[in-house]
Amino acid sequence: MILFGRKDKHIGTKELPNEVCIECGKKGGVVSLFQIFFHVALIPIIPISRKIASQCYSCRAVKVEKQFSEHQKEVSILLKKEFKTPWWTLIGASVIFILLLFKLILKWV
Ligand SMILES: [Zn+2]
Repeated sequence: MILFGRKDKHIGTKELPNEVCIECGKKGGVVSLFQIFFHVALIPIIPISRKIASQCYSCRAVKVEKQFSEHQKEVSILLKKEFKTPWWTLIGASVIFILLLFKLILKWV
């Protein structure tokens, strides 16, 4: 079992029916947004970053943000606005913060 490390979770997708694939020349694909977070025993501790990638429907070719067309860049900006960092990626950090706060309060009582 992996005790801690990075994990990514898919948080949003937009379809691009008119996007022409540079690999196979066919139309249609998606742009997806992923949240990368740090976890301990699969409990999300803190969000690290968000990653965006596109995939072609026909040949399944994956492109990263640097290789995006203008249209894909526009859509990726929209996706990032629409899907914020999910609150649950801060569960671990919140628990640690609350525990530290309690410890501090108990010290003063
Ligand atoms: Zn393709």
